Amino acid sequence: MKAAVFMGPGKSLEVQEIDIPKLADDEILVKVANCGVCGTDIHASKEGPFMVPLNTVFGHEFSGEIVELGSEVDENSFHVGERVTSLPFFKGQNIGLSSVTGAYAEYLKVIPDQVVKIPDEIDDLNAALVEPLAVGLHAVKMAGNIAQQNILIIGAGPIGLACATWCKFFGARNIVISEMSPARIDMAKKLGFDQIVDPKDVDNQFEQIAGGPPDIQVECVGAPGIMQQCIERAPKRGFILGVGLCDHPDTIVPLIAFGKELTIRWAVAYDKEDWEFTMDMMVAQRIDASAMITNVVSLAELPAIFDALHTPSDQCKVIIDLSR
Ligand SMILES: [Zn+2]
Repeated sequence: MKAAVFMGPGKSLEVQEIDIPKLADDEILVKVANCGVCGTDIHASKEGPFMVPLNTVFGHEFSGEIVELGSEVDENSFHVGERVTSLPFFKGQNIGLSSVTGAYAEYLKVIPDQVVKIPDEIDDLNAALVEPLAVGLHAVKMAGNIAQQNILIIGAGPIGLACATWCKFFGARNIVISEMSPARIDMAKKLGFDQIVDPKDVDNQFEQIAGGPPDIQVECVGAPGIMQQCIERAPKRGFILGVGLCDHPDTIVPLIAFGKELTIRWAVAYDKEDWEFTMDMMVAQRIDASAMITNVVSLAELPAIFDALHTPSDQCKVIIDLSR
């Protein structure tokens, strides 16, 4: 099968012919329809503590169709031809971020526990958005009660926008997004978020919109220094949610957080119920993130766009179409 393989930091992915994964008795083989390119994949292709081993095949935001069941898989629960996605967890490893082949490939294997069936109302392309939307849902749930709160989202990448989408869903009063990239600002507006502030002047602009500092701040950038800015900006008993991945030491002044009795919490990934709820809300047309998809590419076109995503770019969500 064809797969886009990680060749090392600073090098382009290479589309190669590799073996179709061999199924153990308790595994399911999926033919990939679509797979999203995630910021985590970009991160894991750079030199640093998160870099994956050479020859990793990325891809954990996928949709596809069951083509084979291992002999121990319950044939009453799963059928060849069914459209599915799966949480990217596989026997203690992360699909697409380890030696377990991800969905930048024609086929991948999954385990029954993690599989989520795709309802007819959700097409394959949108099903590839369930994973990033579930990240946003899980994060926003961690912030507790969202209704009527004034929220600052820092960073309008796919995860920032997913968080904004759920804050709206849960009835936030104001959702203000701090972002400087014109392309990302356009994307936020397309999704219905037009309260955008300049990262260099967040405090004043937020105050003008909401009449006070943000009750909840959702940090979706992960650059050193931002957490301290959040602490300084927060009101008494404010809440700060860390969603952006910062893998560098970062200095904060606890005294300021202490004096305000702040809650600082981090959130990562999701549970299966987050996937199921996301799909239910997509079917009910109460969540629609399809505007986030800016590029649909073939596997052959992937290496060039994957390289482009290493620097700030116009793309929001890039999705691979394995049928192209
Ligand atoms: Zn992802």
